[in-house]
Amino acid sequence: MENWAELEKRQPVAMKMLRQMIIRERVAHAYLIQGDVGTGKEAIGYFLAKSLFCKQMSAGEPCHRCNECLRIDSGNHPDVHWIRPDGASIKKEQIAHLQKEFTYTGLESNQKVYLISHADLMTTNAANRLLKFLEEPSKKTTAILMTENSQAILDTVKSRCQIISLMPLSSQSIEELLLKEGIMPENARLFSAIMPNLEQARALDQDEWFAQARKLVVQLMGILQSKQDEALLFIQRQWMEHFSDREKLNFGLDLLMYWFKDIIYLQIDQKETIIFQSYLKELEKCTWHWSKNDTTQILYSILEAKRHVTQNIHPMLVMEKLTLQMQR
Ligand SMILES: [Zn+2]
Repeated sequence: MENWAELEKRQPVAMKMLRQMIIRERVAHAYLIQGDVGTGKEAIGYFLAKSLFCKQMSAGEPCHRCNECLRIDSGNHPDVHWIRPDGASIKKEQIAHLQKEFTYTGLESNQKVYLISHADLMTTNAANRLLKFLEEPSKKTTAILMTENSQAILDTVKSRCQIISLMPLSSQSIEELLLKEGIMPENARLFSAIMPNLEQARALDQDEWFAQARKLVVQLMGILQSKQDEALLFIQRQWMEHFSDREKLNFGLDLLMYWFKDIIYLQIDQKETIIFQSYLKELEKCTWHWSKNDTTQILYSILEAKRHVTQNIHPMLVMEKLTLQMQR
């Protein structure tokens, strides 16, 4: 992430803490940066590494321009080592190699930094090897571990690190990132609204099951408005066939919930908040069919259905009841 303003916006708490730590010269021997995809783990890794070498620090902020900063950015700094998984894991040899490098006393200064991306992918042997390293901290060596899955990291490793937890991305940030990746605006809005993180939101773009799910929602809306007597049959045949277990059905109910929320947004003239941007025409028809009051009632019914799905009630019964409530 070259855009530091963006990082600042996404992680204000972590950035403030880091700056204060740097200004007070209280940099720890080891950090574990944990956060979802896209939250800025590597950017913070770069920030920390630069802070330790930059010749023109100002107010806890590296300059990003001096020779040290530029060499770190390009991966050519002799005292900054970055370890990434070799295939599916980080192997013992990679950590051993690092340790060997570090026994040569400071190439340029005594300061050394190593960064480990996807630290949760260390094999047990690699983690144990690293642990030896962490147990004998040298004043001039800083370890920066990064992970999306901190539960998979050994407690003994974790306990030796200062933990920096990054905030999850807001759905707005996820939407912006998806747009940058070239996903169509109306989809970026929908994907970011219904998925909690960037990875899952991005995956929806290629997901046939999801495309079909969305189609079924729109079809169900049409049937409820014009062919009411076919609604139950549609639920029994098509809907339940697709949303075939409790988890899938819960997702289908989420889609319905967002759909009816959108109807409300349209009814109160907040078009810009709408999630199903590519179905404005269909949503508009819904506002003719369901009053504001109906829509609110249906939203309550959907929430109730979501509750029932997690309980021991048969999914088909839950859906049939909800369908009747939507028909009212
Ligand atoms: Zn610099």
